[in-house]
Amino acid sequence: MKKILFVTSELHPLIKTGGLADVSNSLPKALADTGQDVKVILPNYRALKLTRNVQLRSTFQIGSHSVQLLETQLPDSNVTVWLVDCPEYFGMAGNPYVDSVGNSYQNNPERFALFCRAAIEVAMNRADLDWKADIVHCNDWQTGLVPALLSLELENEFCPKTVFTIHNMAYQGLFNGLTASMLQLPAELLLPDGLEFYSKISLIKGGIAYADKITTVSPTYAQDIQTHELGYGLEGLLIYRNDDLTGIINGIDDDWNPETDTLIAQKFSVNSLHDKVTNKTALQSRLNLPINENVLVLSLISRLVEQKGIDILLDCLPQLLNLPVQIVILGSGEKIFEQDLKQFATTYPHKMALTLGYDETLAHLIEAGADVFLMPSRFEPCGLNQMYSQRYGTLPIVRNTGGLADTVVDTLPNTLADKTATGFMFDEENAGTLLETIKRALLLYGFPEAWQQVQTNAMNCDFSWKRSAAQYLDLYENID
Ligand code: ADP
Repeated sequence: MKKILFVTSELHPLIKTGGLADVSNSLPKALADTGQDVKVILPNYRALKLTRNVQLRSTFQIGSHSVQLLETQLPDSNVTVWLVDCPEYFGMAGNPYVDSVGNSYQNNPERFALFCRAAIEVAMNRADLDWKADIVHCNDWQTGLVPALLSLELENEFCPKTVFTIHNMAYQGLFNGLTASMLQLPAELLLPDGLEFYSKISLIKGGIAYADKITTVSPTYAQDIQTHELGYGLEGLLIYRNDDLTGIINGIDDDWNPETDTLIAQKFSVNSLHDKVTNKTALQSRLNLPINENVLVLSLISRLVEQKGIDILLDCLPQLLNLPVQIVILGSGEKIFEQDLKQFATTYPHKMALTLGYDETLAHLIEAGADVFLMPSRFEPCGLNQMYSQRYGTLPIVRNTGGLADTVVDTLPNTLADKTATGFMFDEENAGTLLETIKRALLLYGFPEAWQQVQTNAMNCDFSWKRSAAQYLDLYENID
């Protein structure tokens, strides 16, 4: 049994800005299910939505700050969550990283440095908890100082091993004008082979340079970030650390299951695929699209940002809307994309339905009711929707990048024949290629038996957290 401290800056359902929050909920639970002793540590933001009892466990000093460690549990589980309470740093209402108008808090480096130091005190059994970590699993730049600072304690026989997971290389925790003394760091950590990055401080580098093992959220993304295009200047360091870098695909949560989903019109399984159509007509009805069981319904649920290839989709919409399809889009993001999509939806109300905003219930109905899910992403560390889609027999059309490449098998004569095909994949980042791939899907849709075979293949895939947790455990057990 390993004692694992999972260090994270967000945790569903307490606080969430992105996918990290979901991983921080699911992975510790899945590891605990394998018999590991897992504790999650998180800043005690004022905005936390706490539902369980909270107790004071200890009080200790980090520099000039008095820190309280509070204890609660994850809802629906016995996994312990430790909250680092320091009101000067985490007492603001709202988002963990930015203020109400979207500007990063000026003191983010100091805030997360304190959080990292508190996590180290806990991991090293210096916080009066009678618990010492074997493994400290850190996530993203907010926790990058943990491996960096622990590297100074390697002589200490109690020093735990460190794992650092990169959820998205695009966010690096880069800061200008910071000095070692501002973060109370020894100067040696700020050298170019440490946190220094072209005269700035890069907190993600603390994880990449010093952790025993580095992971990212898919094997292909682990390769992608070693390239100039997606390494953001850290590709050299990642290539240097290649032997310690692996990719492990995220799992998906049990609430994304068409057999038990209470948010959809009709539950269904791989053995009752014909029931899926009830969700299709319910979706069309809810979105005021013509009700037609036989038209191919394409869908997209996404942040509307360049990473997700929304501009690529926009470029192919004029031609796409001439095909016999309906298009359902749910998302929010950059205003320009929202406006452009709105214009198409207004011009083609009988073919395209756009919902701007965040709507979990509609997201479930779309996954259940659509035939195809579009993910033309420029890059995608892991991606969740392509996995949800497959569980719901909604065939994904994805770009050949990152986690999409690892979780979707393109429909080709050989993959159709050996029953491994689960969706459609394209390489080039342009509208023409996306359109051609949609036409391939349309063609297959004309052969219901083949279509249902691919749906069945997709629905039978194992995207469980159990599978991912087993891979993390294997990694923890093999750190020397
Ligand atoms: P990313 O984390 O890069 O945004 P992922 O595919 O990994 O992309 O995860 C996105 C998650 O957010 C999915 O669960 C997706 O369904 C959900 N999501 C994104 N936008 C919306 C929205 N507008 N309404 C409901 N759910 C959304």
